[in-house]
Amino acid sequence: MNETSLPLESQPAPTVRPRPHIVSVGPAQLGSGTFSVIAGPCAIESEAQFEETARAVKQLGAVLLRGGIWKMRTSHKTFQGLGPASFDFVREVLRRQQMKLVTEVTDPRQIEQIDDFVGMYQVGARNMFNYALLKELGKTRKPVLLKRSFAALIGEWFKAADYVVDSGNDQVVLCERGIRSFETATRFTFDLNAVLVAKSQTDFPVVVDPSHAVGIREYVPKIALAAAAVGADGIIVEVHPRPAEALSDGQQALTIEDFRVMMKQIDGIVTSLGRDMQRIELHA
Ligand code: PEP
Ligand code: MN
Repeated sequence: MNETSLPLESQPAPTVRPRPHIVSVGPAQLGSGTFSVIAGPCAIESEAQFEETARAVKQLGAVLLRGGIWKMRTSHKTFQGLGPASFDFVREVLRRQQMKLVTEVTDPRQIEQIDDFVGMYQVGARNMFNYALLKELGKTRKPVLLKRSFAALIGEWFKAADYVVDSGNDQVVLCERGIRSFETATRFTFDLNAVLVAKSQTDFPVVVDPSHAVGIREYVPKIALAAAAVGADGIIVEVHPRPAEALSDGQQALTIEDFRVMMKQIDGIVTSLGRDMQRIELHA
């Protein structure tokens, strides 16, 4: 007896499930064919720093705001993020700037603390294998940006996405952020191949994090352009008004001027390939 003649309930689950091709987060329509830019600081450091960055990146074409509330730092002695102390002003900045936030949860207990104001949960590279976290995110109704671990096979990354989907949430966006190789000249090694494989073998929108992928400010825009050129659905990029003062990842943060120049270049690539930049309506 072949599989298709079994009664429906005893057939194995299909390997390719119907999934949404588009993940909506505020004005971003990831997977729709447009190119979306998510930008903001690595970490939210103060109300002033967060709002200054938000206002600038929005004006220059970012459709979503990033900013870490909790940081997964290699050393616990370095800045760990402001945590709950920032919740009130983060809500205010998002309201004033009319932007949706993409932020990382490092522990399942953080989900309910920020569910009222998060736009899209981020799973960091260090937590891609945290299946308890993925299952909890599967129970939420907000999209999930799933970074590839720097030591994960592409297939393991897809299976991690299945944890979220099979727990009830099919609003998953894959994010390639560089892997560890034998090379040490750059922070990580950007795996452009992974973007191609993910685009062709899954229905998830795929974005690139050029900041962590290379880790050196002057190279970040070039990686972003490569992502746009090969058909990624967008980027998530770190921007800081004064990178020298950043409490984390300052060496890879674009200045606002760097971001302005990069956005023009991305627009050129995207347009020349017959695609559109995802835009946000600007008031005043
Ligand atoms: C981040 O986005 O700031 C971050 C910590 O990224 P990753 O998990 O990719 O290292
Ligand atoms: Mn960072």
